Amino acid sequence: MYGILARSPGGATTRLEDVRFRALENSLEDNLRDWLFEEFRDRIAVSSSFGTESAVLLHLVSRIDRGVPVLFVDTGQLFPETIAYRDLLIDRLKLTNVRTVSSNDEDIRREDPAGTLWSVSTDACCAIRKVRPYQQAIRPFDALITGRKRVHGAARSDLDLVNVTNGQFRINPLFDWSAEKIENYLDNFGLPRHPLIAHGYTSIGCKHCTAKSDGGGSRDGRWSGSGKTECGIHLSTGWVSLRS
Ligand code: SF4
Repeated sequence: MYGILARSPGGATTRLEDVRFRALENSLEDNLRDWLFEEFRDRIAVSSSFGTESAVLLHLVSRIDRGVPVLFVDTGQLFPETIAYRDLLIDRLKLTNVRTVSSNDEDIRREDPAGTLWSVSTDACCAIRKVRPYQQAIRPFDALITGRKRVHGAARSDLDLVNVTNGQFRINPLFDWSAEKIENYLDNFGLPRHPLIAHGYTSIGCKHCTAKSDGGGSRDGRWSGSGKTECGIHLSTGWVSLRS
């Protein structure tokens, strides 16, 4: 039903505007109910890195539906603290459908057998360890809820509440949240922090490509000094859903 995007660009635009307009009129909680139980029922997932801010979105969603699929990409290069934090939040928020998505073993054997591709080409490494498995995992869904925010800067500076990427709705309910609002939410609900925050990290990805913050912004420790700001999972690839 929702896979009309590839076949009817005009219809997709209308539906995007409709979803966006309704969302801007309603409270966040009402929107989550609408997206999870009406508009995208059974065809929506949450995308989470279980990073420093992830508890906010996961807590919001868990109050509506603890069984919504939560997609988490394990690149095999993550900090052990992130895996532990994932397990802590699953337990704390009673999430029942967290799906850990891993790289294809054959791809790794063929393209990065030593696990050092990141040191040669971060784009190639992200492609096999993150983007490819993520694209596979999201195919059953018409919409993804992400935790992206404008305060992350760079390509996210003009992020909208809803957009369509690769034929899927990407819903960014926290798109206009400030760093202060995120902190207040975490405090107000007593949510546990990612353990690496205490060691100076503000945004956390893979261990080889994440540095402590130097105070330059919330994602300044990611691929530090390289100019790269996104792994690519939220970028357009030209792929469109043909589901009907
Ligand atoms: S963030 Fe670094 S280690 Fe992780 S997939 Fe991308 S390049 Fe590879």
